Amino acid sequence: MSEQKVAIVTGASRGIGRSIAIALADAGHHVVVNYLGSEDAAAQTTALVAERGVRALTIKADVSQSDQAAKLVETALEEFGRVDILINNAGITRDGLLMRMKDDDWNDVLNTNLRGAFYMLRQVSRPMMKQRSGSIVNITSVVGLMGNAGQVNYAAAKAGLVGLTKAAAKELAPRNITVNAIAPGYIETDMTAALGTEALEALLQHIPLARRGTPEDVANAVVFLASEKARYITGQVLAVDGGMVM
Ligand code: NAP
Repeated sequence: MSEQKVAIVTGASRGIGRSIAIALADAGHHVVVNYLGSEDAAAQTTALVAERGVRALTIKADVSQSDQAAKLVETALEEFGRVDILINNAGITRDGLLMRMKDDDWNDVLNTNLRGAFYMLRQVSRPMMKQRSGSIVNITSVVGLMGNAGQVNYAAAKAGLVGLTKAAAKELAPRNITVNAIAPGYIETDMTAALGTEALEALLQHIPLARRGTPEDVANAVVFLASEKARYITGQVLAVDGGMVM
């Protein structure tokens, strides 16, 4: 596999996904920037990627829709001729207590966070198997490892991603494709912006490194797992959480 690779990052318009796209570009890779609703933000990510001297392509697609996930990968293949790296990062939350959780809140979270990752993985598996190489990184969460009150949907989806990661890792290993997961802890993005000062103080008590993580903290770990230096690592879940889960 050449060092200059082609990467698809889902949900790259904002937050962790944007940082991953930039970090992969810094590592010299071409990047497909996927987004759903934030067109201007996605264009900004693409500009930041292109600024680094690699090729960037913006593609709008809802990864929870099978046909749109398929089109996303097909378009990337048409444009670049190969896909070496897939980062399943797109994710949403619809928090609520179990007793009151609406069907839609359950379905939306499972569909985007778990079904979307499956569709993307299935779609890239064929070209990667043909190439006999590939790196896939799924962004799960510490919540998928330890649960969280008010997030049964999110925790189930993220725990599901861990199973998906390990099963796919075993299935694809004979073709030199690695599949790993990263479990971020509490990272400063729009997703966690609503948390009040009190809740934040309480949370920091459980983080040995005593700070929130940055999207760059997560992106650095993703770049490593997608690199040649991680070719003997597969089926693993790496927590990037300041020591929250150990
Ligand atoms: P964010 O700032 O809310 O960004 C979410 C991204 O996902 C956006 O780019 C959004 O695109 C995209 N997206 C949502 N639904 C999509 C769909 N159906 N198809 C394609 N893209 C979609 O979230 P974040 O905090 O960066 O989180 C990124 C990932 O890390 C998620 O999987 C999240 O669960 C995980 N994570 C985050 C934290 C944290 O503390 N922030 C902790 C653990 C895990 P548009 O804006 O274009 O709609």
